[in-house]
Amino acid sequence: MRVLLVEDDPMIGEAVSVALKDAAYAVDWVTDGAIASNVLRHREHQAVLLDLGLPKRDGLEVLRHLRQSGNAVPVIVITARDGIDERIKGLDIGADDYLVKPFDVNELLARLRAVVRRQGGQAAPVLSNGKVSLDPATKEARCGNIVEVLSAREFALLHALLLRPGAILSRAELEERIYGWNEEVESNAVDFLIHGVRKKLGADVIKNVRGAGWRVDAA
Ligand code: CA
Repeated sequence: MRVLLVEDDPMIGEAVSVALKDAAYAVDWVTDGAIASNVLRHREHQAVLLDLGLPKRDGLEVLRHLRQSGNAVPVIVITARDGIDERIKGLDIGADDYLVKPFDVNELLARLRAVVRRQGGQAAPVLSNGKVSLDPATKEARCGNIVEVLSAREFALLHALLLRPGAILSRAELEERIYGWNEEVESNAVDFLIHGVRKKLGADVIKNVRGAGWRVDAA
């Protein structure tokens, strides 16, 4: 899962990036609102963490433009403690949730899981296609009697596929969801991760669709 972090405070930005990466997200971090709006046009991200007080373009403006362009990506607004009017405004123009600084990173991760889940039309915390299930809070995957904890990237791969059971994701689409901009991606990285997941959960958990990509069975 690829997250865009928009935050101009270097300390907070660094801390949040590290926490997200530790939790198996691919993170792209930008520090001003104008760049954020540009990047968001490409629709590469599955969630956005948006500070409001930003150089070049205010976070509320970024959000307004985003929603006006018809982009429904989940957005969590990050605000200062005294910014209650801004928070209300943010929610009114299309934020999905908000966090008040200073916040606990674990709370951020829980809120992120929740907005992504709702976006995928799934109210239950565990993703499943009826055959294999994945708990984003613990990184635990289950298939029949098998229970395994996946590595961060194996998790990211299976998560991307289970968000839309039955849909085929190409190599490029999977890479985009697993790796950030500044990460080197080996040409066989996806194959390696798929091999790892199959080894843990069984060979038919992820299906290969020749020439197109991979999918998990439809629910
Ligand atoms: Ca700021």
